Formats: sequence, structure tokens, C-alpha cells
Amino acid sequence: MRRKLIAGNWKMNGLKAEGIALAKAVFEKCATTPDKTFDILVCPPMNVLGFVAELPHAGAFVGAQDVAETTKPNGAFTGDISAQMVLDLGATWTLVGHSERRQYHHETDAVVKQKALNAIGAGLTTVICIGETLAEREAGQAVDVVRRQTRECVPMQATAENCVIAYEPVWAIGTGKVPTTADVAEIHAAVRDELAKVLGQEKADKMRILYGGSVKPENAKELLNVENVDGALIGGASLKADSFWAIAETLM
Ligand code: PEP
Repeated sequence: MRRKLIAGNWKMNGLKAEGIALAKAVFEKCATTPDKTFDILVCPPMNVLGFVAELPHAGAFVGAQDVAETTKPNGAFTGDISAQMVLDLGATWTLVGHSERRQYHHETDAVVKQKALNAIGAGLTTVICIGETLAEREAGQAVDVVRRQTRECVPMQATAENCVIAYEPVWAIGTGKVPTTADVAEIHAAVRDELAKVLGQEKADKMRILYGGSVKPENAKELLNVENVDGALIGGASLKADSFWAIAETLM
């Protein structure tokens, strides 16, 4: 049985006091729900990552939103942060390959794979984000695109313990639009099938595949019940502890 994961991607939101307050509110809910049957992950921006990771957070994981592409743990890479530095801040997870990184920073599948390798190599659990654009969906290429991204972004070293996949259709992120449950089921089955080709059936069967894109308390139950959906990656609705937790509560 794959344990569900509810993950929040705060993106570039929140000054120090806001980030710490949001994290405290989420961690408080985790602490008062000791027998929960799902995992919680928060991915704050770098301005608060260290502060958030230092808060008591039993029952929740803290992650970065990205790590550097270089294999070097430090060096002349202005603006980058290595996986080792993320770990040193006390975070144990990271996202890589979010569509906003692919779009605004021109990250290719090869770059995403290198980042995943760096993260896994440093000991971080890695959420590898994939998903088709609207043009690709309208051209009937969604399944082919996510199969290609799975093949090209997931390193051989990935296991269910150090890696999670997040399927996030680009056109559903922050738009309020969500795919039909049939479309989500089709893509998640294709991703698992492709994972089996890359990693073998046993690893593929254990690996969690999240859905992300306009998940809200109102649609969470339906999406989280789709076959092969092992949790959610949440942007906007993760910026308020109440709406983030209301999504998690649909699993209780
Ligand atoms: C995201 O950016 O990962 C995301 C899923 O955003 P939203 O929930 O706001 O669509």
C-alpha cells in the first residue's frame, strides 16, 4: 500500500514572519493528528527554508523547491543552492523540474534528471515534476509527453524511498482548471507503466505519483480517489493552513 503524500509548494510567497507563521500552523495540525495515515510535506521559499526546518515538525517533512544542476556541493554558481546546502539547513526533501522552472528558467529533461541525481546523491528525497502544456494536450500528445518526461527525468538510482513523481498538467496549475478523473487516471497509469520500464515493476509499483494542478478542498476527495493517485502537490491552496489541511482531511 502506498502511503499518500500531501505536499505544499509555497513558490515565491511570504516574508519571514508569514512563512514561519504558516509553517507553525501546519505543524500544529500535524502534531495534533498523531495517527494520520498520510505524509505531509511543505516546500517554503529559500528565505524561510532554514527557519521552517528548525521548527519542531514531527509528522511533517520540509523541502526546498529546487536544487542546483552542478554536481559540485559549492563553487562559483551565483544564485544557486546545492542539495548539500539544502540538507545542511535541515530540509530533507526537494522538488525538481516544476513547470515554472522549466518555463522561466528553460530547464530541460536532462537538467531535471541531473538535479534529481544531485538531490538523491546528497540524501534528499526528490519530487520530480512532469506534465504536458495545453498545446500538447490539445494536440493529443499528453500521454507521450509524460512518458518521455518520465523516461528522461527519472534516474536509475530512484527508489520509492528517495523519489516521488508529481504529474502536474501545466494548464491546470494556478488556473482553477482540472483534468477529468478519467484523464488523470490515464496519465497516472501511463507514468507507472513507464516507471516500470525505467526502474522495474517492483520499484514502479511502490513509487508514489502525486497529482498537482488547482487542487482545492472541494475537488481533493475526488482526485485523491483516482487509481494510481498517491497524493497531491498543492500550490495556491497550500498558502493557508486551513485550506491545505482541509485537503489532507479528505483522507481521514
Ligand atoms: C503547483 O504549482 O505545483 C500547483 C499545483 O499550483 P496550484 O495548486 O496553485 O495549481
